[in-house]
Amino acid sequence: MEERRPNTRRKAIVVKKRICRFCNDKQITIDYKNPDMLMSFISERGKILPRRLTGTCARHQRALTVAIKRARILALLPFTTVKEKLEL
Ligand SMILES: [Zn+2]
Repeated sequence: MEERRPNTRRKAIVVKKRICRFCNDKQITIDYKNPDMLMSFISERGKILPRRLTGTCARHQRALTVAIKRARILALLPFTTVKEKLEL
């Protein structure tokens, strides 16, 4: 699919090229013990970013979701963030 509309409404979320990062680079592994890597796939409110924003393929998105959820339980990633901190 081509990019139909320009990225006007997405401010904070970084939209990169639509290539699955994990398919592209076999060195990167999806690991729930690596919150720094998982951080780039969640929004500032702690939500898991959809595939259409990150370009991750279905298989890796599934693995990523499991990893993020595990990391949340281990308190490596937030379930959500406090509104005051972000001053929205
Ligand atoms: Zn992939």
